[in-house]
Amino acid sequence: MSVTLLEQPDIAPRSTARPLIDRYGRQITYLRVSVTDRCDFRCVYCMSEHMTFLPKKDVLSFEEIDQIVTAFVSRGVKKVRLTGGEPLVRRDIMELVEKIGGHIGHGLEEVTLTTNGSQLRPHAEGLARAGVKRLNVSLDTLDEKRFAEITRRGRIADVLDGLDAADEAGLKIKINMVAMRGVNEDEIEPMLHWAHGRGFGLTLIEGMPLGEVGIDRVDSYLPLREMRERLKARYTLEPTDHRTGGPARYDYVAETGGLIGFITPMSHNFCESCNRVRLTATGQLYMCLGQDDMVDLRGAIRGGGSVALDAALDRAMLLKPKGHDFVLDRAHTTPALGRHMSVTGG
Ligand code: SAM
Ligand code: SF4
Repeated sequence: MSVTLLEQPDIAPRSTARPLIDRYGRQITYLRVSVTDRCDFRCVYCMSEHMTFLPKKDVLSFEEIDQIVTAFVSRGVKKVRLTGGEPLVRRDIMELVEKIGGHIGHGLEEVTLTTNGSQLRPHAEGLARAGVKRLNVSLDTLDEKRFAEITRRGRIADVLDGLDAADEAGLKIKINMVAMRGVNEDEIEPMLHWAHGRGFGLTLIEGMPLGEVGIDRVDSYLPLREMRERLKARYTLEPTDHRTGGPARYDYVAETGGLIGFITPMSHNFCESCNRVRLTATGQLYMCLGQDDMVDLRGAIRGGGSVALDAALDRAMLLKPKGHDFVLDRAHTTPALGRHMSVTGG
């Protein structure tokens, strides 16, 4: 028996829904979803050594995440990125990837994933089958010992093997490297050669002051403007208008034949073109990584279903700030926000 939309008030009609536009005229087309705050690593810039994770009952179910994704897609979101914590440590994660992959071609253009790569070997083929075409894999060093120090408990061999598996499955890979003075600054050029040699992109990220962690953020802060100048002295960097929907700006490196991206939240505020919002594993929607304002979507769906969810998305648009307030210097050594990156999702 076929059922019309009128008989199902819980399903928002796709074509007539209003786009999500904030007070500054920016349209939200990109949703990042943290599927868990848990992780098998404890990277020094991301987590403290001893983390307390959220009780599982507070975490959104796959059905709830899909309900929220459906509402966003109906209102114009074109791209969903699954992240965490480590998305691939959530049990049965492939069920969720398949559900979300099912929206591709029905409003959604792309599902991507940011992962530390440790669990890619068992999951790479399934991801490709579910419609994932591109992955961001975080890798800050190629040195085994340094990798163990930065991640506190990771094994680089697992990540390298995972990258091979993803490559074999036909997934396009971009390496994310948090650039840290005195930690991995000396590895940026070797990483560039390695990544481009394998056909991977490389994106450098400035460390952001989120949550109490294991390193001195001021000492390790490496402005990427400075790094780009250093690279320009050695390589031919050709600015491109390549975009992947995120905040990175890319140059083509003539000598290595690949793209290098720079994510510079600290040295260059890119907020004016921000098209993103972020859903935490417990259903809070943050309109900005660097601000505390949020809307509780879990409360909305558990209390009022799709109608309340839709209204919550409208409220969220009124709360999206013009920009973040990150400041990092000796006068501001405590993190701007107590929230770790693993909670909001990187
Ligand atoms: N576990 C996955 C991973 O590591 O790719 C996904 C979540 S992680 C929070 C997403 C990205 O955020 C990673 O590339 C990580 O390096 C980055 N990240 C974490 N904490 C950060 C911080 N304080 N500043 C800048 N980037 C950070
Ligand atoms: Fe885990 Fe990713 Fe954070 Fe590292 S950066 S601790 S892998 S969530």
